[in-house]
Amino acid sequence: MTQDCLFCKIANQLIPADIVFEDEQVIAFRDISPQAPVHQIVIPRRHITTINDVTTEDRALLGHMLFTATRLAAEQNLSEPGYRLIMNCNQDGGQTVFHIHMHLLGGRQLTHLG
Ligand code: 5GP
Ligand code: ZN
Repeated sequence: MTQDCLFCKIANQLIPADIVFEDEQVIAFRDISPQAPVHQIVIPRRHITTINDVTTEDRALLGHMLFTATRLAAEQNLSEPGYRLIMNCNQDGGQTVFHIHMHLLGGRQLTHLG
């Protein structure tokens, strides 16, 4: 765990979150400031600062994050209407929490990228 990392604290249950799924590798919880009717965050338990920092050893973990998000979407009946998965990186990407995470957004028509 990295000191003063918000998502490490959530992963270690040092601060509360509305957890929707967890296993040995990942944890998923509701975003505190939802931008859509469904807005959940999937994170690895292990701290990785940005997606620039992933290594070849993280390939399965990244796949598991993606798989987890698609399963969460399916459980919430988003598969057919659709949804969006987003990973923001650094300043221009709009990253504000520096522990990698995937946003799952759905439940409304999302506007185009940009
Ligand atoms: P980013 O902007 O880094 O891609 O996404 C960070 C997300 O974390 C934001 O959507 C923000 O609302 C969410 N967030 C920030 N602090 C907290 C918190 O304490 N709890 C939860 N559940 N989400 C948070
Ligand atoms: Zn962290």
